[in-house]
Amino acid sequence: MNRRFLQRATLAVTLLLLVVGMGHAQNRAKYVFYFIGDGLGINQTYGTELYNAQAGGGDGRLSFTRFPVRTYVTNHSSSSAVTDSAAAATALATGIKTNNGYLGVDKEGEQARNIAEVAKGLGYATGVATNVGINHATPSGFYAHCKDRGDYTELCTQLFAGEMDFAAGATFLCRSRSGLKPQDMVARAREAGIEVVQSADKAAQVRGKRVILLSDSLSRKNLPFAIDRREGSESIVDFTDAAIRYLEREGDKGFLLMIEGGRIDYSCHDNDAVTTFKEVNDFDASIRLALDFYERHPDQTLIVVTSDHETGGMAVGYSKYKINFERLLHQDISMESLTGVMQRMREQGKMDWEDMQSLLKEHLGLWDKVSLREKDEKSLRKTFEKNFLNNGEKVVGLYTSNEKMAAEAIKILNKRAYIDWISLSHTGMQVPLWVKGVGYERFYECYDNTDIPKAIAEAMGTNLR
Ligand SMILES: [Zn+2]
Repeated sequence: MNRRFLQRATLAVTLLLLVVGMGHAQNRAKYVFYFIGDGLGINQTYGTELYNAQAGGGDGRLSFTRFPVRTYVTNHSSSSAVTDSAAAATALATGIKTNNGYLGVDKEGEQARNIAEVAKGLGYATGVATNVGINHATPSGFYAHCKDRGDYTELCTQLFAGEMDFAAGATFLCRSRSGLKPQDMVARAREAGIEVVQSADKAAQVRGKRVILLSDSLSRKNLPFAIDRREGSESIVDFTDAAIRYLEREGDKGFLLMIEGGRIDYSCHDNDAVTTFKEVNDFDASIRLALDFYERHPDQTLIVVTSDHETGGMAVGYSKYKINFERLLHQDISMESLTGVMQRMREQGKMDWEDMQSLLKEHLGLWDKVSLREKDEKSLRKTFEKNFLNNGEKVVGLYTSNEKMAAEAIKILNKRAYIDWISLSHTGMQVPLWVKGVGYERFYECYDNTDIPKAIAEAMGTNLR
Protein backbone atom coordinates (compact mmCIF):
# COMPACT_ATOMS: atom_id res chain seq x y z
CA MET A 1 0.00 0.00 0.00
CA ASN A 2 1.47 3.35 -0.90
CA ARG A 3 1.75 6.22 1.49
CA ARG A 4 -0.54 8.51 -0.49
CA PHE A 5 -3.36 5.98 -0.46
CA LEU A 6 -3.00 5.62 3.30
CA GLN A 7 -3.16 9.41 3.79
CA ARG A 8 -6.28 9.68 1.65
CA ALA A 9 -7.94 6.76 3.41
CA THR A 10 -7.17 8.32 6.80
CA LEU A 11 -8.61 11.64 5.67
CA ALA A 12 -11.76 9.98 4.36
CA VAL A 13 -12.29 8.04 7.58
CA THR A 14 -11.72 11.20 9.66
CA LEU A 15 -14.25 13.14 7.58
CA LEU A 16 -16.75 10.32 7.88
CA LEU A 17 -16.33 10.20 11.66
CA LEU A 18 -16.75 13.98 11.85
CA VAL A 19 -19.99 13.89 9.86
CA VAL A 20 -21.36 11.02 11.96
CA GLY A 21 -20.22 12.82 15.11
CA MET A 22 -21.88 16.08 14.10
CA GLY A 23 -25.08 14.27 13.27
CA HIS A 24 -24.92 12.70 16.71
CA ALA A 25 -24.24 16.00 18.46
CA GLN A 26 -27.30 17.51 16.80
CA ASN A 27 -29.50 14.84 18.32
CA ARG A 28 -31.18 16.44 21.22
CA ALA A 29 -34.09 15.33 23.33
CA LYS A 30 -37.03 16.91 21.57
CA TYR A 31 -39.52 14.71 23.41
CA VAL A 32 -38.90 14.18 27.11
CA PHE A 33 -40.85 11.77 29.29
CA TYR A 34 -40.17 12.12 33.01
CA PHE A 35 -41.81 9.39 35.07
CA ILE A 36 -41.84 9.61 38.86
CA GLY A 37 -43.10 6.65 40.84
CA ASP A 38 -44.06 8.18 44.18
CA GLY A 39 -42.80 5.91 46.95
CA LEU A 40 -41.32 3.47 44.44
CA GLY A 41 -38.30 1.61 45.78
CA ILE A 42 -36.27 -1.18 44.29
CA ASN A 43 -38.22 -3.79 46.27
CA GLN A 44 -41.60 -2.48 45.12
CA THR A 45 -40.24 -2.81 41.58
CA TYR A 46 -38.70 -6.26 41.92
CA GLY A 47 -41.68 -7.42 44.00
CA THR A 48 -44.00 -6.47 41.13
CA GLU A 49 -41.91 -8.52 38.70
CA LEU A 50 -42.05 -11.52 41.01
CA TYR A 51 -45.80 -11.05 41.45
CA ASN A 52 -46.32 -10.77 37.69
CA ALA A 53 -44.26 -13.90 37.07
CA GLN A 54 -46.38 -15.75 39.62
CA ALA A 55 -49.66 -14.41 38.20
CA GLY A 56 -48.96 -14.74 34.50
CA GLY A 57 -45.96 -16.97 34.09
CA GLY A 58 -42.90 -15.79 32.20
CA ASP A 59 -40.38 -13.50 33.77
CA GLY A 60 -42.90 -10.80 34.72
CA ARG A 61 -40.44 -8.09 33.73
CA LEU A 62 -41.48 -4.46 33.77
CA SER A 63 -40.58 -2.49 30.65
CA PHE A 64 -38.29 0.02 32.34
CA THR A 65 -36.09 -2.39 34.27
CA ARG A 66 -34.56 -3.25 30.88
CA PHE A 67 -33.46 0.33 30.16
CA PRO A 68 -29.72 0.81 29.51
CA VAL A 69 -29.21 3.11 32.52
CA ARG A 70 -30.10 1.30 35.75
CA THR A 71 -28.63 3.14 38.68
CA TYR A 72 -29.62 4.83 41.93
CA VAL A 73 -29.41 8.31 43.42
CA THR A 74 -29.40 9.88 46.87
CA ASN A 75 -32.54 11.84 47.70
CA HIS A 76 -32.19 13.53 51.10
CA SER A 77 -33.72 16.99 51.49
CA SER A 78 -32.13 20.08 53.09
CA SER A 79 -34.01 19.48 56.30
CA SER A 80 -33.80 15.70 56.63
CA ALA A 81 -32.13 12.50 55.44
CA VAL A 82 -35.68 11.36 54.75
CA THR A 83 -37.36 13.49 52.14
CA ASP A 84 -41.02 14.20 51.63
CA SER A 85 -42.58 14.41 48.17
CA ALA A 86 -42.40 18.23 48.05
CA ALA A 87 -38.64 18.54 48.63
CA ALA A 88 -38.05 15.57 46.32
CA ALA A 89 -40.25 17.08 43.58
CA THR A 90 -38.29 20.31 43.94
CA ALA A 91 -34.98 18.44 43.59
CA LEU A 92 -36.25 16.46 40.60
CA ALA A 93 -37.74 19.53 38.90
CA THR A 94 -35.30 22.33 39.74
CA GLY A 95 -32.03 20.59 40.63
CA ILE A 96 -31.83 22.22 44.06
CA LYS A 97 -32.23 20.87 47.57
CA THR A 98 -34.87 22.34 49.82
CA ASN A 99 -36.68 21.72 53.10
CA ASN A 100 -39.42 19.14 53.41
CA GLY A 101 -42.73 20.79 52.60
CA TYR A 102 -41.24 23.38 50.21
CA LEU A 103 -42.06 23.40 46.51
CA GLY A 104 -40.01 25.04 43.77
CA VAL A 105 -38.12 27.28 46.19
CA ASP A 106 -34.80 26.82 47.96
CA LYS A 107 -34.54 26.57 51.72
CA GLU A 108 -34.43 30.38 51.99
CA GLY A 109 -37.64 30.58 49.99
CA GLU A 110 -36.02 31.85 46.80
CA GLN A 111 -37.70 30.66 43.60
CA ALA A 112 -35.80 28.18 41.46
CA ARG A 113 -36.46 27.63 37.76
CA ASN A 114 -37.82 24.17 37.03
CA ILE A 115 -37.23 21.91 34.05
CA ALA A 116 -40.73 22.54 32.66
CA GLU A 117 -40.02 26.29 32.63
CA VAL A 118 -36.68 25.59 30.95
CA ALA A 119 -38.45 23.47 28.32
CA LYS A 120 -41.02 26.23 27.80
CA GLY A 121 -38.14 28.62 27.17
CA LEU A 122 -37.06 26.37 24.29
CA GLY A 123 -40.55 26.54 22.82
CA TYR A 124 -41.56 23.08 24.03
CA ALA A 125 -45.09 22.29 25.11
CA THR A 126 -45.25 21.02 28.70
CA GLY A 127 -47.50 18.73 30.68
CA VAL A 128 -48.03 16.92 33.95
CA ALA A 129 -50.27 13.95 34.68
CA THR A 130 -50.96 12.15 37.94
CA ASN A 131 -53.51 9.82 39.47
CA VAL A 132 -53.69 11.89 42.67
CA GLY A 133 -54.71 15.54 43.12
CA ILE A 134 -53.45 17.82 40.37
CA ASN A 135 -52.08 20.17 43.07
CA HIS A 136 -50.49 17.42 45.16
CA ALA A 137 -46.76 17.79 45.81
CA THR A 138 -45.15 15.99 42.87
CA PRO A 139 -47.02 17.66 39.97
CA SER A 140 -46.91 21.04 41.78
CA GLY A 141 -43.11 20.84 41.78
CA PHE A 142 -43.28 21.32 38.01
CA TYR A 143 -45.45 24.45 37.95
CA ALA A 144 -45.39 26.12 41.38
CA HIS A 145 -43.06 27.97 43.75
CA CYS A 146 -44.40 27.98 47.28
CA LYS A 147 -43.10 27.39 50.81
CA ASP A 148 -46.18 25.39 51.80
CA ARG A 149 -47.12 22.22 49.93
CA GLY A 150 -50.48 22.33 51.69
CA ASP A 151 -51.48 25.77 50.39
CA TYR A 152 -53.66 24.21 47.73
CA THR A 153 -55.35 27.46 46.72
CA GLU A 154 -52.01 29.13 46.01
CA LEU A 155 -50.80 26.08 44.05
CA CYS A 156 -53.93 26.23 41.87
CA THR A 157 -53.53 29.98 41.41
CA GLN A 158 -49.98 29.44 40.17
CA LEU A 159 -51.04 26.57 37.90
CA PHE A 160 -53.74 28.72 36.30
CA ALA A 161 -51.48 31.77 35.92
CA GLY A 162 -48.56 29.73 34.63
CA GLU A 163 -47.66 28.23 31.28
CA MET A 164 -48.23 24.49 31.73
CA ASP A 165 -50.12 23.43 28.62
CA PHE A 166 -51.58 20.15 29.84
CA ALA A 167 -52.33 19.11 33.41
CA ALA A 168 -54.21 15.97 34.44
CA GLY A 169 -55.12 14.70 37.89
CA ALA A 170 -58.00 13.31 39.92
CA THR A 171 -59.28 16.66 41.18
CA PHE A 172 -58.25 19.98 42.71
CA LEU A 173 -57.39 19.43 46.36
CA CYS A 174 -58.88 22.12 48.62
CA ARG A 175 -58.18 22.80 52.28
CA SER A 176 -61.45 22.67 54.16
CA ARG A 177 -60.66 25.89 56.01
CA SER A 178 -60.37 27.74 52.68
CA GLY A 179 -64.09 27.20 52.19
CA LEU A 180 -63.38 26.37 48.54
CA LYS A 181 -64.55 23.33 46.61
CA PRO A 182 -63.05 21.70 43.50
CA GLN A 183 -65.89 23.23 41.46
CA ASP A 184 -64.73 26.71 42.52
CA MET A 185 -61.29 25.88 41.18
CA VAL A 186 -62.80 24.64 37.91
CA ALA A 187 -64.50 28.04 37.55
CA ARG A 188 -61.23 29.87 38.26
CA ALA A 189 -59.37 27.74 35.70
CA ARG A 190 -62.00 28.54 33.07
CA GLU A 191 -61.76 32.25 33.92
CA ALA A 192 -58.04 31.94 33.17
CA GLY A 193 -58.94 30.68 29.69
CA ILE A 194 -58.12 27.03 30.35
CA GLU A 195 -60.30 24.28 28.90
CA VAL A 196 -61.35 22.00 31.78
CA VAL A 197 -62.65 18.56 30.81
CA GLN A 198 -63.45 15.31 32.59
CA SER A 199 -62.70 12.84 29.82
CA ALA A 200 -59.26 11.83 28.59
CA ASP A 201 -60.49 11.56 25.04
CA LYS A 202 -61.86 15.11 25.10
CA ALA A 203 -58.62 16.41 26.60
CA ALA A 204 -56.61 14.80 23.80
CA GLN A 205 -58.68 16.66 21.23
CA VAL A 206 -58.38 20.20 22.64
CA ARG A 207 -56.60 22.42 20.12
CA GLY A 208 -54.67 25.64 20.55
CA LYS A 209 -55.64 26.04 24.18
CA ARG A 210 -54.31 25.00 27.57
CA VAL A 211 -56.19 22.06 29.04
CA ILE A 212 -56.86 20.58 32.47
CA LEU A 213 -58.14 17.02 32.63
CA LEU A 214 -59.87 15.82 35.81
CA SER A 215 -61.57 12.57 36.75
CA ASP A 216 -65.33 12.14 36.47
CA SER A 217 -65.74 12.51 40.23
CA LEU A 218 -64.27 15.72 41.65
CA SER A 219 -65.14 14.74 45.21
CA ARG A 220 -62.66 11.84 45.13
CA LYS A 221 -59.16 13.01 46.01
CA ASN A 222 -57.51 10.29 43.90
CA LEU A 223 -58.21 7.98 41.03
CA PRO A 224 -59.22 4.57 42.41
CA PHE A 225 -56.43 2.09 43.05
CA ALA A 226 -55.86 -0.15 40.00
CA ILE A 227 -56.95 -3.17 42.05
CA ASP A 228 -60.33 -1.51 42.81
CA ARG A 229 -60.93 0.03 39.41
CA ARG A 230 -64.31 -0.52 37.80
CA GLU A 231 -64.65 -1.15 34.10
CA GLY A 232 -64.73 2.11 32.13
CA SER A 233 -63.21 4.34 34.79
CA GLU A 234 -60.12 6.24 33.71
CA SER A 235 -56.60 5.57 34.93
CA ILE A 236 -53.16 7.16 34.76
CA VAL A 237 -52.68 5.18 31.55
CA ASP A 238 -55.62 6.99 29.91
CA PHE A 239 -54.29 10.31 31.24
CA THR A 240 -50.84 9.56 29.80
CA ASP A 241 -52.35 8.61 26.45
CA ALA A 242 -54.34 11.87 26.33
CA ALA A 243 -51.25 13.88 27.30
CA ILE A 244 -49.16 12.32 24.53
CA ARG A 245 -51.82 12.87 21.87
CA TYR A 246 -52.31 16.50 22.92
CA LEU A 247 -48.62 17.34 23.32
CA GLU A 248 -47.52 15.63 20.12
CA ARG A 249 -49.94 17.81 18.19
CA GLU A 250 -49.47 21.06 20.11
CA GLY A 251 -45.73 20.80 20.66
CA ASP A 252 -44.24 21.16 17.21
CA LYS A 253 -40.93 22.23 18.77
CA GLY A 254 -41.04 19.34 21.22
CA PHE A 255 -42.52 18.58 24.62
CA LEU A 256 -41.70 17.67 28.18
CA LEU A 257 -44.20 15.51 30.05
CA MET A 258 -43.98 14.53 33.73
CA ILE A 259 -46.10 11.54 34.72
CA GLU A 260 -46.50 10.55 38.34
CA GLY A 261 -47.50 7.11 39.58
CA GLY A 262 -48.86 8.85 42.64
CA ARG A 263 -50.82 6.08 44.27
CA ILE A 264 -47.85 3.75 44.72
CA ASP A 265 -47.01 5.93 47.73
CA TYR A 266 -50.52 5.57 49.17
CA SER A 267 -50.58 1.78 49.10
CA CYS A 268 -47.05 1.70 50.55
CA HIS A 269 -48.14 4.01 53.39
CA ASP A 270 -50.82 1.35 54.02
CA ASN A 271 -48.23 -1.48 53.77
CA ASP A 272 -50.48 -3.17 51.21
CA ALA A 273 -48.23 -5.17 48.86
CA VAL A 274 -50.65 -6.47 46.21
CA THR A 275 -52.27 -3.06 45.78
CA THR A 276 -48.77 -1.63 45.36
CA PHE A 277 -47.80 -4.18 42.71
CA LYS A 278 -50.92 -3.35 40.68
CA GLU A 279 -50.10 0.35 40.95
CA VAL A 280 -46.58 -0.34 39.68
CA ASN A 281 -48.11 -2.22 36.74
CA ASP A 282 -50.26 0.83 35.92
CA PHE A 283 -47.13 2.97 36.07
CA ASP A 284 -45.43 0.49 33.73
CA ALA A 285 -48.38 0.58 31.31
CA SER A 286 -47.96 4.37 31.11
CA ILE A 287 -44.25 3.94 30.42
CA ARG A 288 -45.08 1.47 27.65
CA LEU A 289 -47.04 4.27 25.92
CA ALA A 290 -43.89 6.38 26.04
CA LEU A 291 -41.97 3.43 24.59
CA ASP A 292 -44.47 3.21 21.70
CA PHE A 293 -43.83 6.90 21.11
CA TYR A 294 -40.08 6.26 21.29
CA GLU A 295 -40.41 3.64 18.54
CA ARG A 296 -41.81 6.35 16.28
CA HIS A 297 -39.15 8.96 17.23
CA PRO A 298 -36.12 6.97 18.42
CA ASP A 299 -33.55 9.69 17.73
CA GLN A 300 -35.43 12.44 19.53
CA THR A 301 -37.04 10.80 22.54
CA LEU A 302 -35.71 10.56 26.09
CA ILE A 303 -37.45 8.50 28.77
CA VAL A 304 -36.42 8.99 32.40
CA VAL A 305 -37.99 6.85 35.13
CA THR A 306 -37.26 7.46 38.79
CA SER A 307 -38.79 7.83 42.23
CA ASP A 308 -38.95 10.58 44.83
CA HIS A 309 -38.42 8.30 47.85
CA GLU A 310 -39.11 4.80 49.07
CA THR A 311 -42.19 4.32 51.26
CA GLY A 312 -42.76 1.60 53.84
CA GLY A 313 -39.33 -0.05 53.91
CA MET A 314 -40.70 -3.02 52.02
CA ALA A 315 -38.75 -6.26 52.39
CA VAL A 316 -39.22 -9.03 49.85
CA GLY A 317 -38.31 -12.38 51.37
CA TYR A 318 -37.76 -11.27 54.96
CA SER A 319 -37.30 -14.70 56.47
CA LYS A 320 -36.20 -18.29 55.80
CA TYR A 321 -34.57 -17.45 52.44
CA LYS A 322 -37.85 -17.72 50.64
CA ILE A 323 -40.92 -16.05 49.21
CA ASN A 324 -44.36 -17.48 48.53
CA PHE A 325 -46.14 -15.12 46.16
CA GLU A 326 -48.68 -17.75 45.14
CA ARG A 327 -50.45 -16.72 48.35
CA LEU A 328 -50.91 -13.16 47.10
CA LEU A 329 -52.92 -14.07 44.02
CA HIS A 330 -56.29 -14.13 45.80
CA GLN A 331 -56.33 -10.53 47.05
CA ASP A 332 -58.82 -8.64 44.87
CA ILE A 333 -59.37 -5.42 46.82
CA SER A 334 -57.19 -2.74 48.45
CA MET A 335 -56.90 -2.23 52.21
CA GLU A 336 -58.73 1.04 51.71
CA SER A 337 -61.69 -0.70 50.03
CA LEU A 338 -61.62 -3.56 52.50
CA THR A 339 -61.99 -0.93 55.22
CA GLY A 340 -65.08 0.40 53.43
CA VAL A 341 -66.60 -3.08 53.19
CA MET A 342 -65.97 -3.70 56.89
CA GLN A 343 -67.57 -0.41 57.86
CA ARG A 344 -70.69 -1.31 55.86
CA MET A 345 -70.71 -4.71 57.56
CA ARG A 346 -70.76 -3.01 60.94
CA GLU A 347 -73.56 -0.68 59.84
CA GLN A 348 -75.59 -3.69 58.70
CA GLY A 349 -75.04 -5.38 62.05
CA LYS A 350 -73.13 -8.29 60.52
CA MET A 351 -71.01 -8.81 63.60
CA ASP A 352 -70.34 -12.55 63.66
CA TRP A 353 -66.86 -13.98 63.39
CA GLU A 354 -68.18 -16.18 60.57
CA ASP A 355 -69.19 -13.06 58.60
CA MET A 356 -65.68 -11.68 58.99
CA GLN A 357 -64.14 -14.99 58.01
CA SER A 358 -66.17 -15.22 54.83
CA LEU A 359 -65.25 -11.63 53.95
CA LEU A 360 -61.53 -12.36 54.35
CA LYS A 361 -61.92 -15.59 52.41
CA GLU A 362 -63.65 -13.80 49.56
CA HIS A 363 -61.24 -10.87 49.19
CA LEU A 364 -57.90 -12.22 50.43
CA GLY A 365 -58.25 -15.97 50.10
CA LEU A 366 -57.46 -16.50 53.80
CA TRP A 367 -58.21 -20.03 55.11
CA ASP A 368 -59.42 -21.28 51.69
CA LYS A 369 -56.37 -20.56 49.55
CA VAL A 370 -53.89 -19.28 52.10
CA SER A 371 -53.35 -21.45 55.14
CA LEU A 372 -53.02 -19.59 58.42
CA ARG A 373 -50.80 -20.46 61.34
CA GLU A 374 -52.36 -20.76 64.76
CA LYS A 375 -50.85 -17.46 65.86
CA ASP A 376 -52.24 -15.69 62.76
CA GLU A 377 -55.71 -16.97 63.48
CA LYS A 378 -55.43 -15.94 67.13
CA SER A 379 -54.29 -12.47 66.20
CA LEU A 380 -57.16 -12.02 63.70
CA ARG A 381 -59.68 -13.21 66.24
CA LYS A 382 -58.27 -10.91 68.89
CA THR A 383 -58.35 -7.87 66.56
CA PHE A 384 -61.93 -8.78 65.62
CA GLU A 385 -63.09 -8.91 69.22
CA LYS A 386 -61.07 -6.07 70.68
CA ASN A 387 -61.23 -3.72 67.77
CA PHE A 388 -63.83 -4.47 65.12
CA LEU A 389 -66.67 -5.27 67.51
CA ASN A 390 -65.92 -2.21 69.63
CA ASN A 391 -65.55 0.13 66.67
CA GLY A 392 -62.01 0.63 67.90
CA GLU A 393 -59.05 2.69 66.81
CA LYS A 394 -58.09 2.94 63.18
CA VAL A 395 -54.62 2.52 61.73
CA VAL A 396 -54.00 6.10 60.77
CA GLY A 397 -51.55 6.56 57.94
CA LEU A 398 -50.55 9.72 56.12
CA TYR A 399 -53.52 9.57 53.77
CA THR A 400 -55.86 6.94 55.09
CA SER A 401 -57.52 5.76 58.21
CA ASN A 402 -57.94 2.02 57.89
CA GLU A 403 -59.83 -0.50 59.99
CA LYS A 404 -57.33 -2.27 62.18
CA MET A 405 -59.01 -5.53 61.14
CA ALA A 406 -58.26 -4.82 57.45
CA ALA A 407 -54.67 -3.80 58.24
CA GLU A 408 -54.09 -6.90 60.37
CA ALA A 409 -55.50 -9.28 57.75
CA ILE A 410 -53.34 -7.79 54.99
CA LYS A 411 -50.30 -7.74 57.22
CA ILE A 412 -50.75 -11.46 57.86
CA LEU A 413 -51.29 -12.15 54.16
CA ASN A 414 -48.10 -10.22 53.30
CA LYS A 415 -46.16 -12.17 55.91
CA ARG A 416 -47.47 -15.48 54.58
CA ALA A 417 -45.92 -14.47 51.24
CA TYR A 418 -42.70 -13.48 53.09
CA ILE A 419 -43.15 -9.75 52.58
CA ASP A 420 -42.69 -7.41 55.50
CA TRP A 421 -42.62 -3.67 56.05
CA ILE A 422 -40.70 -1.61 58.57
CA SER A 423 -42.54 1.69 58.40
CA LEU A 424 -45.86 3.39 57.67
CA SER A 425 -43.87 6.31 56.37
CA HIS A 426 -41.01 7.22 53.99
CA THR A 427 -37.51 5.80 54.40
CA GLY A 428 -34.14 7.31 53.56
CA MET A 429 -33.33 4.57 51.07
CA GLN A 430 -31.70 5.74 47.85
CA VAL A 431 -33.97 5.63 44.83
CA PRO A 432 -33.67 3.91 41.47
CA LEU A 433 -33.10 5.67 38.15
CA TRP A 434 -33.74 4.07 34.77
CA VAL A 435 -33.09 5.91 31.49
CA LYS A 436 -33.48 5.14 27.81
CA GLY A 437 -33.27 7.22 24.66
CA VAL A 438 -31.34 10.16 23.31
CA GLY A 439 -28.74 11.48 25.76
CA TYR A 440 -29.07 8.53 28.14
CA GLU A 441 -25.28 8.37 28.63
CA ARG A 442 -25.37 11.57 30.70
CA PHE A 443 -27.38 9.86 33.39
CA TYR A 444 -24.56 7.51 34.35
CA GLU A 445 -23.13 10.62 36.07
CA CYS A 446 -26.19 11.15 38.27
CA TYR A 447 -25.42 10.53 41.95
CA ASP A 448 -28.08 12.66 43.56
CA ASN A 449 -31.69 13.41 42.58
CA THR A 450 -30.70 17.03 41.84
CA ASP A 451 -28.43 15.77 39.03
CA ILE A 452 -31.38 14.36 37.07
CA PRO A 453 -33.02 17.60 35.82
CA LYS A 454 -29.55 18.95 35.01
CA ALA A 455 -28.93 15.93 32.79
CA ILE A 456 -32.36 16.34 31.19
CA ALA A 457 -31.67 20.02 30.43
CA GLU A 458 -28.34 19.07 28.85
CA ALA A 459 -30.02 16.37 26.79
CA MET A 460 -32.40 19.08 25.54
CA GLY A 461 -29.34 21.11 24.53
CA THR A 462 -29.47 23.71 27.30
CA ASN A 463 -28.80 24.25 31.00
CA LEU A 464 -31.06 24.44 34.04
CA ARG A 465 -29.86 27.94 34.92
ZN1 LIG B 1 -45.67 9.64 50.92
